[in-house]
Amino acid sequence: MTSEKKAMPLEKCICDKTRTDSRCIMNDKEEQTGKPSLLMHSCCGPCSTACIERMAPDYEVTVFFYNPNITDEDEYKKRRENQIKFIKEYNEDPSIPYKVAYMEGDHDADEFIEICGRYCDEPEGGKRCGLCFDMRLEKTAMTAALLNFDSFTTTLTVSPHKDQKAIFAIGRRHADTYQVEFLEEDFKKRDGFKRSVELAKKYGLYRQDFCGCEYSRREAEERRQKKQKGTEK
Ligand code: SF4
Repeated sequence: MTSEKKAMPLEKCICDKTRTDSRCIMNDKEEQTGKPSLLMHSCCGPCSTACIERMAPDYEVTVFFYNPNITDEDEYKKRRENQIKFIKEYNEDPSIPYKVAYMEGDHDADEFIEICGRYCDEPEGGKRCGLCFDMRLEKTAMTAALLNFDSFTTTLTVSPHKDQKAIFAIGRRHADTYQVEFLEEDFKKRDGFKRSVELAKKYGLYRQDFCGCEYSRREAEERRQKKQKGTEK
């Protein structure tokens, strides 16, 4: 990425403060707990559920919703709303002693298309996805460094469809560049994916059936049609 792209967009939190210079923590527990801070890149509410549940006891978690790969505006809004819905309900649950904060990156789908669009015909898991992970993790690392987080991670590894080795390699590279620790947590392990499905159901969250970009939506649609044709035979 060029240095030009390192200019921070305004980040917003759900308590409606807009700031560029300090972390927005929706609670005042950080000082009291002394836990290390963690900026958790999140792709959507359902995936974030089990990741937050796993990390919140040991870290002051701030969810970073940064997904320019969700090219359709309505889909983006739907996922964003569900992310916020989960965090609000989690924070308001009296049986949970932890709270998480929320931050949002800019949503520039054109930037995603510019970087990843040349691989639009590749199947999911190919070069396009590597660039997509890279784009999102670089921004997360950069934001974590700028706002003095102790570490960063991503919910992407909760998906059984994503290559965590590739994600870890990208995370390590950006950790090096931005000098902030990358937590290599494979969230799908220890039944993490199963737990995310359970929690998404419990909180009534919208769970999409495609990864995020229009190319993945097209692929999912093709899969559906093939399956349908198979069952019609
Ligand atoms: S399929 Fe998913 S990971 Fe791959 S480019 Fe599209 S949104 Fe990104």
